[in-house]
Amino acid sequence: MNTTTLRFIALPALTLLSALSTPAHALKVFACEPEWAALTKELAGDQASIYTATNALQDPHQVQAKPSLIAAVRNADLLVCTGAELEIGWLPVLLRQAGNPAVQSGQPGQFNAADYVKKLEVPTRLDRADGDVHASGNPHIQTDPRNIAAVAQALSKRLTEVDAAHASLYHNRLADFNIRWAQAMQRWDKLAAPLKGMPIVVQHKGFPYLENWLGLNEVISLEPKPGVEPSSAYLSTVLTQLQKQPAKMILRAAYNDGRGSQWLSERAHIPVAVLPFTVGGSDKAQDLFGLFDDTLAQLLKASK
Ligand SMILES: [Zn+2]
Repeated sequence: MNTTTLRFIALPALTLLSALSTPAHALKVFACEPEWAALTKELAGDQASIYTATNALQDPHQVQAKPSLIAAVRNADLLVCTGAELEIGWLPVLLRQAGNPAVQSGQPGQFNAADYVKKLEVPTRLDRADGDVHASGNPHIQTDPRNIAAVAQALSKRLTEVDAAHASLYHNRLADFNIRWAQAMQRWDKLAAPLKGMPIVVQHKGFPYLENWLGLNEVISLEPKPGVEPSSAYLSTVLTQLQKQPAKMILRAAYNDGRGSQWLSERAHIPVAVLPFTVGGSDKAQDLFGLFDDTLAQLLKASK
């Protein structure tokens, strides 16, 4: 057998193998953040081939519009992003450069999770001087599992809309996810009971939905304005404030620079809870279930 015939035999075999792992007609999804990649995976399984634009150790407000990201948007059938202006600094650039009409704003190919939850911290006035404030409210919706549940229903519907041929697959996977998520939420609510009313300091205004879910009480933020790193003078002000109004711990996301919270932790004698914030933000947060398991484990550990 010469090499030419070998190649003819080997090629279809290889193609068949890769076709078995990801369907050739798989829906190409561009997820802006890891939590939406994880949710898409829950709801579509192998029917979606998912490209995740950012990882848990990256600041999702600020992302470089790299050529690899532009190419991924150009190829995508569906964008699954947070919306609520979280990606305002980079996604419009990608959309412009990619020139893919299917995923432009307002098209079925663009899904914004924040459209399906009630937003917190919607500003009554908008002023650049107030820092990195988002006009449509706080975009960090993924820290409340009730939001994940609401987004799952809408995302499943959208998957069916853009890929009607697999409607029954999406329907079944949603039903299965809903059962598992409801069970997990019951478990989390029970676990989290001792956290109710706990006073906390936050590094960035990244946790209003978590606070709302668990009944945490935010005493102060380390950022003088959202998105602005604290000066040492400002940190001293926070320390003084904490002497009058003590807090139990400082919360920061895995992607935040830890220096400010460390400084405060040593002087106020309260621990820092480093929360995964999204999927991949810690070893245990490898999917959405692990994200909330580990978030609660970190909070409970710091509250001891
Ligand atoms: Zn933010």
